[in-house]
Amino acid sequence: MKILTAPDELQQTCLEWRARGLSVALVPTMGYYHDGHVSLMRHAREAAQKVVVSLFVNPTQFGPGEDLATYPRDPERDAAIAESNGVDLLFMPSPEDMYSPAHATWVEVPELSRTMCGLSRPTHFRGVCTVVLKLFMLAQPAIAFFGQKDWQQAAILKRMAADLNVPTAIRTCPIVREKDGLALSSRNVYLTQEERAQAPHLYQSLRLAAELAASGETDARRLMTAIREHWKTYLPKAQEDYLTIVEPDSLAPVETLSGPALCALAVRLGKARLIDNMLLKTA
Ligand code: AMP
Repeated sequence: MKILTAPDELQQTCLEWRARGLSVALVPTMGYYHDGHVSLMRHAREAAQKVVVSLFVNPTQFGPGEDLATYPRDPERDAAIAESNGVDLLFMPSPEDMYSPAHATWVEVPELSRTMCGLSRPTHFRGVCTVVLKLFMLAQPAIAFFGQKDWQQAAILKRMAADLNVPTAIRTCPIVREKDGLALSSRNVYLTQEERAQAPHLYQSLRLAAELAASGETDARRLMTAIREHWKTYLPKAQEDYLTIVEPDSLAPVETLSGPALCALAVRLGKARLIDNMLLKTA
């Protein structure tokens, strides 16, 4: 596995691969790998002849007071995991490699970024779109893989790619969970033992809503009330950031379910901000 830190070397390598007729798949990540990242690497391995993984804790997607400085990092372990999952090139730039002091260009999808995670993280998706488009320009991938755990991120990136005629297909992969249902996240290390024991109730609450929807409940407010009641009982220390039921592509709020709808949540549990989501299907 090749490891590069210089953006122009990544671009050169990928251009050479393309010139030789080799397709490239890209998996953008912030590192501290778990099985969610590994599943994206494996999907990428099956989809293209060359797999590029970027490992970059992108400063522009963190707001003031967020966990940029303390975000968990273990690049040596990450490199070993990437290599053992068939990754051809691991791109690990520094912030200075990615952003020149003169950087002045931003990519935004405001309509999809003002809701859900964007409410408490108003500059987050601007940072995500900008770095992902930069990575697309560098690696020129035929296909790129993202997790459904960050559903809003994937919806925004799909909109960005369609609007800007980006020649990269965006694929999303299912959420990988712990045995008890907690969605894997690099940030789960912030949880205390007690919080970790309670955290699977986020998944349980989404399942509860999915079961209610499947058995005929179409009122989004009643579904969300059931979720909040579950939290009151089993996650008394969780602070709601948001809970919403939206149309899966446009992210527009849904009042009455008439087809698949996405139930998405973010809560603060101790030092961690946890997100999760589930598609609700009507009876
Ligand atoms: P991150 O390193 O947290 O920025 O995540 C990199 C990619 O992995 C993103 O596309 C995430 O959506 C995806 N991802 C993170 N957690 C999971 C998970 N539990 N299951 C599937 N994909 C995930």
